[in-house]
Amino acid sequence: MSARANYAGLTDIGRTRTVNEDALLLDAPLFAVADGLGGHQAGEIASKLALEKLREGAPLRADAKALARAVRSANQAVIRAAEEGRGRAGMGTTLTAAVVTGTTIAVAHVGDSRAYLLRGREIERLTRDHSMVADLIEQGQITEEQARHHPNRAIITRALGSDDNMVADAFEVDAESGDRLLLATDGLHGSLTDDRIAGILGAYADPGTAARALIDAANDAGGPDNITAVVVDIAEDATPEAPKAGPSAVRRAVPVMLWLLAAFAVLAAGAYGAWRYAQSRAFVTDEGGLVTVYRGVPGEFAGLQLHWLERETTVSVDALDVTTASRLKRGIRLDSVEEALSLAEEYRARISAEPTPGGGQPPSP
Ligand code: CA
Repeated sequence: MSARANYAGLTDIGRTRTVNEDALLLDAPLFAVADGLGGHQAGEIASKLALEKLREGAPLRADAKALARAVRSANQAVIRAAEEGRGRAGMGTTLTAAVVTGTTIAVAHVGDSRAYLLRGREIERLTRDHSMVADLIEQGQITEEQARHHPNRAIITRALGSDDNMVADAFEVDAESGDRLLLATDGLHGSLTDDRIAGILGAYADPGTAARALIDAANDAGGPDNITAVVVDIAEDATPEAPKAGPSAVRRAVPVMLWLLAAFAVLAAGAYGAWRYAQSRAFVTDEGGLVTVYRGVPGEFAGLQLHWLERETTVSVDALDVTTASRLKRGIRLDSVEEALSLAEEYRARISAEPTPGGGQPPSP
């Protein structure tokens, strides 16, 4: 066992927020960060509660499946707390957790906090963000830099606190002695590029100094959000019974993809998971008296609007029959934007074809 502490963590309110809804856990071999959502102190309750429950259920060795089970219990605890009036309905939290046994790292992850592994000067993201902008980047619609300023960058597609069946991404990584693990909330990686993070993370031998420097840099960049960084030095002898190191390359277990697939199935039902589902849906509604087509679903999920204007027509809702007009007020849901657009066209044709009620005049040109 090494004499000096080989890990450290810090959280900071940042420069613009009045509450710190981030939380962190340093309980070797367990480490975690959580970024609470919900406002009015509810996010703070959610992130702290999630870490408490995680600590109770987490394995003592790097076992990804067991760690995922602990995240699942933490999720249920956050849901129950909201139901019982602790915090608020709709509160939630991200959670990125790691258990380190020698050079093996088990990771369980939900939301847009991240785990990174630094080896020499090279940094690798171990986790994939569960966020709307991450999906857009994967689809090739926006770049990493555009995501940084995207109006919907705060929308996450998976979190603890909304869906009983939520599944965490979970996997094990074979690291090497000398590697450095970083867990961070988006207050850090939203303000600093991965290259910048790598530069700072590798510049200081002491993990605490590195964590401090990362937080200072995010604050220097404006500190628009709460900032949390946990730095863990990986060493062969850091924990007893360290298993033999595996292949030198960082390996992510194949089951990750299976977890992802299972998670996408859950997305359709979950409040935070509604974004991807919403993308495939459409509805037609009355907006300012005009028939208007939206991609997405009407209303809100966990305080988020999941619809995007597709077309505002010149078809007047008042010119349609009362039943249709009232259905439009509530929003008529359809399976695709194409169907929604053709329904709007049908209304236009209907108005042109039918005589106005009681009038009998031919339609105006
Ligand atoms: Ca945040």
